[in-house]
Amino acid sequence: MADDPELIPGIHVYCDRWCGRCAFASRCLQFRLETEGRERDGALQNFDVLNAQFWEEMGEALVQAMRFIRDIAAKGELEVNDLQRETVFSEPPESLQRDAREHPCAIAALLYAGMVNEWFAASDELSYTEESLLTKPPLFLEESIQVIRHYHYFIYPKIVRAIEGRLGKEAVSGCNFDADASGTAKVTLIALDRSLAAWSLLYKEYPAQEDNTLSILLHLDRLRRSVEVVFPDARAFIRPGFDAPLP
Ligand code: SF4
Repeated sequence: MADDPELIPGIHVYCDRWCGRCAFASRCLQFRLETEGRERDGALQNFDVLNAQFWEEMGEALVQAMRFIRDIAAKGELEVNDLQRETVFSEPPESLQRDAREHPCAIAALLYAGMVNEWFAASDELSYTEESLLTKPPLFLEESIQVIRHYHYFIYPKIVRAIEGRLGKEAVSGCNFDADASGTAKVTLIALDRSLAAWSLLYKEYPAQEDNTLSILLHLDRLRRSVEVVFPDARAFIRPGFDAPLP
């Protein structure tokens, strides 16, 4: 199976582990091994196309989300300086010699996970139904909530791994931990982008939660800018298959 030229070597190393939404599942050895005998290639390729469309739409939602945050700032509802000059969750390199879990980005990621739990708990309290929004979302919000749920607990461990890679590089000179840190940071940034887009879609649907949703949007925006500061090479990192030209 591994000799199949259609497979993209190493594609699973910097993916988000959301195989059900992956645009390259049919070309991933990891996926084939995990689902051996359960999937047909033809059906998988169709899924790949649909999933590529899904993420394209999410990319457009991200553009809208960023415009929305800037618009709010422009209307004076936020301090413009908060967005432009705001201190990011980063520190000068010399203070990175600590446990990665204590890094401000990691703490902010953990805080985000808590904010998500609180948001859904508050929504359930406001709801007239017995069903939890997190597990039984209305159809029109299903995809956004799936995105939020998938990345909810994904961001924190990825940030910790990326920072550990950076600390490792500084502790053991000559070792190339940096590439892994950048690749991991890139996946984290993608998770942050997509979560931001999904929250922006929820924002207008839950006016009673407007302030809380806005706090989450701003927190995520700040965190993604912080990760970009700590890992300036991350956006340019080329992930096998996802970013590299396909054979
Ligand atoms: S590359 Fe895609 S199919 Fe393979 S493990 Fe990652 S998400 Fe799943």
